[in-house]
Amino acid sequence: MPYGTQSIDEDDIQAVVDVLRSNFLTTGPAVAQFEKKVADYVGAKYAVAVSNGTAALHVACLAAGIKKGDEVITTPITFAASSNCVLYCGGTPVFADIKKDTYNIDPDDIRRKITKKTKAIIAVHFTGQPCEMEEIHAIAREYNLLVIEDAAHALGADYKGKMVGSMSDMTTFSFHPVKHITTGEGGMIMTNSDALYERLSLFRTHGITRDENLLTVNDGDWYYQQLELGYNYRITDIQCALGISQMDKLDLFIENRKKIVRRYNDAFANVEEVVTPYQQEECNSSWHLYVIQVKKRKEIFDKLRAAGIGVNVHYIPVYSFPYYQKHGYDNVHCQNAEKLYENLISLPIHAKLTQSEQDYVIEHVITAVKDC
Ligand SMILES: *Cc1c(COP(=O)(O)O)cnc(C)c1O
Repeated sequence: MPYGTQSIDEDDIQAVVDVLRSNFLTTGPAVAQFEKKVADYVGAKYAVAVSNGTAALHVACLAAGIKKGDEVITTPITFAASSNCVLYCGGTPVFADIKKDTYNIDPDDIRRKITKKTKAIIAVHFTGQPCEMEEIHAIAREYNLLVIEDAAHALGADYKGKMVGSMSDMTTFSFHPVKHITTGEGGMIMTNSDALYERLSLFRTHGITRDENLLTVNDGDWYYQQLELGYNYRITDIQCALGISQMDKLDLFIENRKKIVRRYNDAFANVEEVVTPYQQEECNSSWHLYVIQVKKRKEIFDKLRAAGIGVNVHYIPVYSFPYYQKHGYDNVHCQNAEKLYENLISLPIHAKLTQSEQDYVIEHVITAVKDC
């Protein structure tokens, strides 16, 4: 019983087969259709689909112009890609602590971490709960910073009536199989800015363009130019066809996740050993993860794993990894993040989790916390 997994039906399979029989396996019509479908869903002007969520973050940092000497503030309670993307560009990730209740980046600590070198904020909507975007945007306006949302957990979430993906300079999604919808591997960057859209598109494909408005000279119809040092971060039509088909089920997937959350919350409501997730007013989490806090996490984790339950821990504070420790982060401490990490467990949550499987998880969690 995994903590998260994909949910693929016959329509998804047929959509992929149809592309295999078509003329385009990559850079074809399915890519633009998938981009439009996600852009329309979240209410963004532009979307750029790429090979994975990490590539989406990398391209976003490139489009933001992050380079050596620039600092970018993010959270330590995230997947390493959220800060690695800054390192790829030669920039310096700076970690701001999280809030004890929401587990998301603390706007007050963002303020404390701002220097003359700060260029951007990467806000991660941990578990699918939106960060405090009003406060983050206010800080960004005050200090002239770009805001990138790492919304790998938050496709379908909304913040005070605004969909995640519509609000900031750029927002990235991932379509890895554990996320809300999947393309196998895949990612996307959303933006409302014409200029950023142009740069995102360039960096996705080697920095190469055929756009007449961008060429410095034009030798003829065959002509193209490389304007930037970009990458091959393209996604295939095969993947996008799967994504298009999966998008039809996104609301259903999220509804299923919400039902699972309600059952967990009810089951643990009177279990004082279990701290259930923060319920944000005015916002809808898309519930990528269901994380609880428990004392004696290791014993409880081991018991649940021994019972065949695919519990996990999201996340180990990024700066504590040996790579970061060797590269100047050995004195970094975010107290709330470190305390949270000690107690975290992610319980199974995905569209295919059955009620009896969930009952099994609940029963074992309750027994484990009472025994430990
Ligand atoms: C999954 C994830 C990513 C990376 O996405 P990939 O598609 O696996 O490259 C980045 N950030 C967060 C918070 C994630 O959960």
